[in-house]
Amino acid sequence: MSREQARQVLKEAQRIAVATHVSPDADAISSAIGLVQILRRLGKTAEAFCDDDLPARLKALPHAGEIARIARGPFDLLVSLDASDPGRLGKAFAELQGIPLLNIDHHITNTHFGTINWIDPSAVATSEMVLWLAEDLGVTLDAELASILLAGIVGDTMGLRTANVSPRVMHEVTRLMEAGASLPALVDALFNRRPLAAIRLFGQALAEARMEDGVIWTVITREMRAASGLTHANDLSLSSFLIGAEEARIAAVFTERDDGKVEVSMRARPGYDVARVALAFGGGGHPPAAGCLLPGPLEEAIPPILRALKAAARNSQGETQGEH
Ligand code: 5GP
Ligand code: MN
Repeated sequence: MSREQARQVLKEAQRIAVATHVSPDADAISSAIGLVQILRRLGKTAEAFCDDDLPARLKALPHAGEIARIARGPFDLLVSLDASDPGRLGKAFAELQGIPLLNIDHHITNTHFGTINWIDPSAVATSEMVLWLAEDLGVTLDAELASILLAGIVGDTMGLRTANVSPRVMHEVTRLMEAGASLPALVDALFNRRPLAAIRLFGQALAEARMEDGVIWTVITREMRAASGLTHANDLSLSSFLIGAEEARIAAVFTERDDGKVEVSMRARPGYDVARVALAFGGGGHPPAAGCLLPGPLEEAIPPILRALKAAARNSQGETQGEH
């Protein structure tokens, strides 16, 4: 299933619902708003949906305020962006049964749940795939659309620093900047601004970090979050920081949610694979960055994941892979 089929089905559709995943990151929001803007420029009706709140740093993106929680139809096509399984779409999937589903994603763990699936793990971001669609559909980039799409590329590459950033990506970034997007402004908004409460919580969790058999890990409990006053704890990117420990091959952060479920955020050095571990526990992601959601409580969620991560830390795949 291909990029050409995606172009074709989008050309034919008139009323399009564009859904992205819960716990949205920059790529989720950018790809959704970006595709909606592209479709509207082609004279179509298009609405973006996300069954979750947006973190503050993403609310500032152009048109982010228009993203709705629930889909109000009728629609003749549902597009899923950056979601590796239908559960990640939340209510958007359940409420829009019975219409064709175009599944566009770059996660290697994608379950191909669409009517049409365009899955490309060589893309650094789903927003990069949406940029390719803009070209295929003949939509010219302006400053606003370029900023929206660059936000997703910058977000998923941690500011163009991941192992999959190639000359192709840099050419695309140059084109987006030439169209008016600001790389420094996006890097600043996405990576350099966090609440003081998050920094204090970060410090507390770092102080508790443990290192076992190549795996560095820590826990953020409900009590720690409540004391810090921070609601969106998965916003910390703490696992990305932990994997910087020279002694570590794999990093994990276990966050206890208000409903008692446990979010696991995992990172791996090049040559190690956490996507497989995430998939085995019902989640997904990329070899160097993946996650899953477990029932809890914390003391039951942690040991099986740690066992799997220690096994993954013993299992080097060579240095060839690089998707974030
Ligand atoms: P993060 O650790 O930054 O939250 O997520 C890293 C990667 O794993 C992202 O690509 C994200 O979409 C994916 N991911 C995180 N949590 C889950 C989950 O519960 N289910 C699935 N399918 N993917 C997840
Ligand atoms: Mn992505």
